[in-house]
Amino acid sequence: MTPHAAPPSTPSIPMPRYRHLLDSLRHAFPAPVSDAVHDGYMAFSVLRALDQVDALKTQAPLLGSPRAPDFVAAQQARVTEQGATLEAVLPRLVSCLEGMPIWSHPAAQVNVTAPPSIAGVVGVLLPSIYNPNLCSEESGLGFSEAEARVAAMIADLVGYDPAHASGLFTFGGAGTLLYGVKLALEKVCPGAMQSGLQGDAVVLASDHSHFACASVAGWLGIGQDNVLRAVTHADNSVDVAALEHLAEEAIAAKRRIAAIVATMGTTDAFGIDDLHAIHALRDRLVQRRNLDYRPHLHADSVIGWAWRMFGGYDFNANPLEFRARTLRALAAAWNRIQHLSLADSLGVDFHKTGFAPYISSLFLVRDREDFTRLLRTRDMAPYLFHHGHYHPGAYSLETSRSATGPMAALANLLMLGKEGFRVLLGHAVEMAEILREHIGGRPELSVLNERNVGPVTLFRAYPAEVDTFTVKDREMRDPAYRPRLLLHNEMNRRIFDRVQFDALHGRGVALGFTDNYRVSDYGEPVNAIKSYVLSPHADESRMTTVVEQVLIARAKVEEAMRDQLAQPAT
Ligand SMILES: *Cc1c(COP(=O)(O)O)cnc(C)c1O
Repeated sequence: MTPHAAPPSTPSIPMPRYRHLLDSLRHAFPAPVSDAVHDGYMAFSVLRALDQVDALKTQAPLLGSPRAPDFVAAQQARVTEQGATLEAVLPRLVSCLEGMPIWSHPAAQVNVTAPPSIAGVVGVLLPSIYNPNLCSEESGLGFSEAEARVAAMIADLVGYDPAHASGLFTFGGAGTLLYGVKLALEKVCPGAMQSGLQGDAVVLASDHSHFACASVAGWLGIGQDNVLRAVTHADNSVDVAALEHLAEEAIAAKRRIAAIVATMGTTDAFGIDDLHAIHALRDRLVQRRNLDYRPHLHADSVIGWAWRMFGGYDFNANPLEFRARTLRALAAAWNRIQHLSLADSLGVDFHKTGFAPYISSLFLVRDREDFTRLLRTRDMAPYLFHHGHYHPGAYSLETSRSATGPMAALANLLMLGKEGFRVLLGHAVEMAEILREHIGGRPELSVLNERNVGPVTLFRAYPAEVDTFTVKDREMRDPAYRPRLLLHNEMNRRIFDRVQFDALHGRGVALGFTDNYRVSDYGEPVNAIKSYVLSPHADESRMTTVVEQVLIARAKVEEAMRDQLAQPAT
């Protein structure tokens, strides 16, 4: 029928086809205004997804069954002509969780991956529905306040003056390093933001600092080669004398030290740099060498920050009744972490030791004026910190910034308080101490990071005839021992593979592994099996399981490697 042939009495123009489709699509969005029925549908859709996830749970520390990712299939994916209903999409989303480790499972001790709390998950959900952009307060409002609140809470916690400090959330711990080193660069090479980097800048860090230091130097145009890495002590903290030597050399070569990065909790072994000594070193350098700038001191505290929660804890009275070993470890970590306020800026990962979902990372500066160095246009300065004005978008690298990070952090800070954090971290350390005791009782096993004070234990298994009291020293120092070291590396790698396989099939605990605990004096990496406890569900029985399963795997691997291991030691 042509339009002009329509009878004049037609009550309305027929609805275009797209409007029918739109009607059904509208159901796929949350109702913009109060609609209890539709809210029920939305909540129920979330529940349906969770219910389908529940069906994937077994006793093993992973969802569904173990599987390898299939990227060949993934590359066949295309956008289809027609979509699907929400109901049809849910199971396809849930299938992405197949084979996923359950980090909160007491049998998951793989890495520093936080088990997120319920409050943290809700903290991510709410901004996901209402989509604030933290670029400015107009869009962010209460979410922007949340960011400012968390920044104030953490500023106070680390010993900054919240009235002068300022912080913003960014894309991970690497992002916090990027901000820290960028600020540093602007202080030492002013105008780099505007005119590009002139001159020769270096960054000082330890050889156990995170590789993000190098990434950041590369991305900022400093160059990865210009990250100078000082050697570390056996506890993985930087050798400050070596750091000073590097600094002196750099200055003598007329290079400018942009940043000194102190690692406050290394990723694998929880080594904590002596920030107090590094701070003194920085000031000494400025005086002695008459520097016309002050190298910026950034604390990479993305892991260690949480130990600030022990500030004010009465270690003598020990009201939470931690065991003596745990107490000693917590106090030792606190001793190093207490100096955090000496850093000019620092990073906090709530998605690591803050029990928040990925990503929740706060970059904090002691002096908010520092941010003016990062302004996109200088004339924005007057607007920045006036009462009622909050425009991190004027100096943040990102334009769109999600509120999920600050909201997840806020959720946990409110829910846990200092006491909750002390309980969770204290428990993790207590479990690690128990594991170390058990390992110490076995002549075939040996803890590598013995002086460690955190929740991570690195250890190795050795063949029967090896004296585990002296072997570690030989491995580290004796070049003639290289062939044995390589054998022991292989042995531990194979033990780990077995334990891993069993754990993924529901037998025992899933552990982690590091290919490079430390490099020996003669340049060979020493690997290690790793237990990183963060789950509140971890318990003592799991820690004994770790030792048992490693011993069983060790016996099998020793058997399989018998011929190789029979070679004389040197
Ligand atoms: C994890 C980690 C980083 C990087 O943080 P992301 O959140 O993974 O980007 C940097 N430094 C240290 C010490 C870390 O452990």
